Order: sequence, then C-alpha cells, then structure tokens
Amino acid sequence: MINQERLYDLLLDLITTDSHSRQEREVALKLKAAMEALGANVEIDGAGEAVGGNSGNVICHLPANHPSAPPIFLAAHMDTVTPGEKVKPLLEGTILRSDGTTILGGDDKSGCAIIVEVCRVIEEENLPHGEIEAVFTICEEVGLLGSKYLDVKSLHSKYGLVLDSDDVGFLFTQAPAADHMEWTIYGLAAHAGMAPEKGINAIQVAGEALAKMKLGKIDNETTANIGFIVGGGPTNVVPNKVVLKGEARSLNDAKLEAQTRHMDECFREAAAKYVVELEGVKHYARVESHIVRQFDRLNLQEDAPIVQLVIKAVQNLNLKVETRMMLGGCDANVISGKGLECANLGTGMQAIHTVSEWLDLRDLYRSANIVLEIVRLNAGVA
Ligand SMILES: [Zn+2]
Repeated sequence: MINQERLYDLLLDLITTDSHSRQEREVALKLKAAMEALGANVEIDGAGEAVGGNSGNVICHLPANHPSAPPIFLAAHMDTVTPGEKVKPLLEGTILRSDGTTILGGDDKSGCAIIVEVCRVIEEENLPHGEIEAVFTICEEVGLLGSKYLDVKSLHSKYGLVLDSDDVGFLFTQAPAADHMEWTIYGLAAHAGMAPEKGINAIQVAGEALAKMKLGKIDNETTANIGFIVGGGPTNVVPNKVVLKGEARSLNDAKLEAQTRHMDECFREAAAKYVVELEGVKHYARVESHIVRQFDRLNLQEDAPIVQLVIKAVQNLNLKVETRMMLGGCDANVISGKGLECANLGTGMQAIHTVSEWLDLRDLYRSANIVLEIVRLNAGVA
C-alpha cells in the first residue's frame, strides 16, 4: 500500500521547490537523491546544456529483483509553467491548492512524487519487480524539449507510462501529431505615395495566401491555425516583410503532411504572382519557410501490452479506466515517436496552467495505488 503521509510530504516538498522550465536543478537533485537512496543508478543527461537550462533529464534505473520480470519506465516532468515561484500550498479538507498568486505545480510534481513513492513501497515491501526506469524530464512545458533530447537507447524498457494528465482513470492512448510553421514573406520596399509600382507589398502577398488557406477544423482528425502575424512599418512605405506562424495537427500522418504542404503552397503561389521590373532587373516576392515536426502522433491500440496492463491493474483495484484521445502533445507523444510504447495516465491534477490549479489528495493516492499495482502486475508474479 501507498504511504499517504510520505507521498503528501514529498509532493509538498516538490511543489515548494521552484522549477520553472530551464530551472529544474533543485527538483532534479531532490529526485536524484530520493532514487539513489533506494539503490537506483541515476544519471542526469546533457539535455540541460542543449536547451540552455540548469539541469538535464534525471534518468534512474532501479535494478530488478526478479529475473524474468520485464523492465518498465515511468516518466513525469519536473518543470512548471509560470507563475510558479514561491508556491504557498493550502490544504482545505483533501483539496490542495495555491494561495491564488501562483500555480500549484501539481502539473507535474504529482507525477514525480507518485513515481518515487511507488519505488519506495516496492523496496520497502521487497515486492518482486522488473527493472523500473524512472525518467524525470525537463522543459516539457516549453516544447517537450527534455523528452526530445532523451536518448531512449539508454532505457531497457519497451513500454511504460507518462504520468501527466488530470483525471484518475483516464488513460490517454491517442493524440495528434503536430507541425509548427513559420514563414517570412519578403516583398520590396518603395515609397507608397510616389512610386508604389516599384514595390511589392508583403502584407498583400500574405493576405492573398491567407484568403485561400483552409484553416480551423479541416476534418474530424485534422486542425490548422495561423496564430501570429507581424510586419510592415510606416503607412507611407510599401512593406517588404511579414512574418507569420501557424500550426497543423492531425491523428493521421498523411493528412497532416497534406495540410502542412497546402499552407506552405498558399504562400508560395501567392508570392509567385508578384514581380516588379526595375531598370531591367526583375524582383520577385519571396517566401522563406521553416517547418518542424513539433511532436509525433500517439497511437496505441487497446491490445497493446501497456494498455492491457493498466486496464488489469485498475480492475484489480475495483476502479474504472477509460482510454481517451488527447488534443495536446506531451512527453508521451515524443517518447512513443521514438519507438517506445507509451500512454499517459492521470494523477489528479486539475485546472492546470492557472492560478486556480488544485488537486484532490484522494485522487493522488488512488493514482499512486494504480501505478503500484501496474508495477506489481508487470512482474508477472501473482
Ligand atoms: Zn504537464
């Protein structure tokens, strides 16, 4: 059984330790020490240097004590969104919240605390288990940077869980892939009153592209958005530059590719129509695009071993689990994109990314007991 008081104490310790993205070091050292005390081999990888933060991902290998039991990984992120410094947690009944000036940081310190507590119970009660690989990532909130850097070859597990969502009993097994896009449209500057015919209006090029662009809900699996535009200057100058940023998401890789190509082509086709000849030299509107895969698709089937393991564990505890689709991206997308089977299980965090964030301790304990049962079942020992 989970030691509720010990789990609560650890959660409080973690949420009162500041860890905005790129500032995870103090939390990382606490988690490292806690896992080393249990006999885990712990390393902090180079993700921190790579992203300009003060800590890397904390990767812990708790050796198996049962030879035939397969390894399993459990992951949570250490960083929080802002404002997340000097959190003053208040407990009313079983509800933990902040004092309203900061987030609580249950996202995702609840996940971190659950992982450590489960390992503590396992060692304390000497339960048979396979290798447990605890992965505490950095910079999840600013683009899943820690998990993107993570070398999954350093893990022995083929499957595992990310503990980073709200309702206990929700298992997220599906999530879209996403592309992030940036375009810079170059026109040609000219005096807007004296010689506008000598210029190319970059804003007009952008406008023409946008008018033809399919955006919003494309179909049941695909969405697209332009979320940022900036450009131009004084009204008496034909503007020579506009920058736009957008994204597309889809549960279907081919549809995502098609949507991303469509958006890019709208800019290119619009630009191709604009040309000005000055003293025998032709000037064209020009588009520079920068398109990156923001995260891969999460696509686990019901019969995947990790899903079956979670379903069985939850049933053993007489609780309910529902497999679901998530609309955002999390570390589970990235880890599953790297070839490991991975789903995202709820920890009880609620109203996240707001100063009203709260967490019901009964949910936290329930989630921890589910994870403990998962690890126990994974050992394959009745
Ligand atoms: Zn989170």
